Amino acid sequence: MQGLCCTGVSLAGVCRQGKVWISVFRSVQNARRASYWRKPVSSFFFCSTINYQLSTIDYQLRIMTNAILTFDLGGTNLKYGIGAMDGNIFYHGSRESGGKGEIAALTALFEQAAGEMQAIARKKRLKLAAAGVGTPGAVDADKGVVFGSSPNVPSVVGIPLKEILEKAVGLPVVVDNDANLATLGEAVVGGGKGYKSVLGLTLGTGVGGGFVQDGKLFRGDHGSALEAGHITIAINGRMCNCGKRGHLEAYASGSAIVQRANELTSELGSHHPHKFTKTKPVFAAAEEGYPPAVLAIEEAVQGLAAGIASLINTFDPGCIVIGGGVMFGMIQHWAELKKLTAEMVVDSLTGKTPILPAELGNMAGMVGAVIAARDKLGIRG
Ligand SMILES: [Zn+2]
Repeated sequence: MQGLCCTGVSLAGVCRQGKVWISVFRSVQNARRASYWRKPVSSFFFCSTINYQLSTIDYQLRIMTNAILTFDLGGTNLKYGIGAMDGNIFYHGSRESGGKGEIAALTALFEQAAGEMQAIARKKRLKLAAAGVGTPGAVDADKGVVFGSSPNVPSVVGIPLKEILEKAVGLPVVVDNDANLATLGEAVVGGGKGYKSVLGLTLGTGVGGGFVQDGKLFRGDHGSALEAGHITIAINGRMCNCGKRGHLEAYASGSAIVQRANELTSELGSHHPHKFTKTKPVFAAAEEGYPPAVLAIEEAVQGLAAGIASLINTFDPGCIVIGGGVMFGMIQHWAELKKLTAEMVVDSLTGKTPILPAELGNMAGMVGAVIAARDKLGIRG
């Protein structure tokens, strides 16, 4: 699955190119001169001259423009793309990652995806300057090493991932946590654009988080900050994927919602039991009034509200941005989510922190990886 989204050359990028502006000026002057001397066919000639000159400028811009490869590694898919300096992704694709496999197979996948994009870049006269990579797990962003655990892609833990990927794609690589990068993308060009600080939550199979202040990610001393899925919202509560109890992820993640809906189906002894395997049918069943699904979603909304309120009380962010696959179901329960959150936020922050849906969809991580690589390596257009 792949496609070209747009030209990928922003107006801001054009503005930065002094040479191009001179070229634009000369083109217009030449065109005006041409239209003056060829007055009888001026209108047509003027337009065609301009078009020709603009296509020449476009060509010049393309051979002068840096671009960044971007990768978003997940347990199911490796998403990848080519991004412009403003984070705009103008080519993207996806391959099955076989997340539990060996690192050698994963490296080969990166090589293949990079090869595909290098061919596109040559065709479009783009100069590839770096690659940004988002991965599950806590990341030491300076060393480019994943530490702790990464249940969905275990082979990336404890190896020199940055070095391995630099060899695979033939470019300088910046590695960071996927939820961190999704928050960075949303903060700079997505739902949180314009806010001084943005706290992002990604509701997927698990729950990830990130915090961006003044366009920069907050990482903590060990690179493990904002593991927001593992803040405790219930003492001795449900078992989390990490092996500890009562964490947000055990209530508001996609896997938790599915598991809870199935548990409640058994407990409530429904006459027409559903067996859920994905989140979307749970939301649909709740809409139809199926009691186990209604209860599972209610518990997820309550858990999410508790998590958001704790994060607002701790970080005082300008806004909360919520993304990930589960967000699309949660959007129907937004008013309830905001009401419950408000009940748990301290008085000094009441009504001050908007809770917003993400705007970049499943591209947020890839956009963030482009921005992270651009800023860390000081790449300009
Ligand atoms: Zn946990």
